[in-house]
Amino acid sequence: MSRTPLVAGNWKMNKNTYEASVLSQNIISYLDYETEKIEAVLCPPFTDLRTVRTVLEFDKTFVTLGAQDVYWEKSGAYTGAISPVMLKELACRYCIVGHSERREYFGETGLDISRKAQALLEVGIIPIICVGEDLEKRDEGAKAALAFITAQLDAALQLIDTSDISKLIFAYEPIWAIGTGRTATPEQAQEISAGIRVHLADLHGPAVSDSIRILYGGSLKPENVALFAPLPDVDGALIGGAALEARSFVDIVKAFA
Ligand code: PEP
Repeated sequence: MSRTPLVAGNWKMNKNTYEASVLSQNIISYLDYETEKIEAVLCPPFTDLRTVRTVLEFDKTFVTLGAQDVYWEKSGAYTGAISPVMLKELACRYCIVGHSERREYFGETGLDISRKAQALLEVGIIPIICVGEDLEKRDEGAKAALAFITAQLDAALQLIDTSDISKLIFAYEPIWAIGTGRTATPEQAQEISAGIRVHLADLHGPAVSDSIRILYGGSLKPENVALFAPLPDVDGALIGGAALEARSFVDIVKAFA
């Protein structure tokens, strides 16, 4: 089964409107061609979505817009929250959910993540669901790490309609590798991604499992991406720090294309 690789840049809480415009224009200019071999997704802060959308609107079809988070209600008295409908109006195609920073700093639970993913799917936005173990779990060994991750996955899937499962994207992001400069080894990334795929096959059959894209994230850079791009069960990347610089993001996109 051939899966189109996807590289998403998570800008986190970085870039004002002007900087977002410059960064997205530079990315577009470095990706000066059309291709169906890869999807690149820019995930700026909410306040930059319209700006980046305007930059992308009349340009490359393989570079699209994503959000970093969402709330599951459609509208109402939820101060500070952003709904899936609002993201849809801004032409977001993807939305990250369950990033380890949201789990850690904002207390997000597996049920919250499932609600968010379900609400996104209802409006046609594809959730990129993040899973990953902390260092303590990793130190217990690969089996313990995988068991932790499949439990996160089951929690995220609890409200998702079976017919929607194949639309999802998962990102394996070991917490100990995020923003630390320390990457998982390619063997660790492949082992967990393959384990996620086997788990999905057990739950939903091989056809669904084969079609789902699994990304790797954690201190990926142009210097180390060549080790990860060829891995058979890794279908792209979720990039933090290296997505804040146009050239490095584009180099990573090209490595997966
Ligand atoms: C992330 O936060 O999703 C991430 C992968 O960050 P970094 O690339 O900076 O490790």
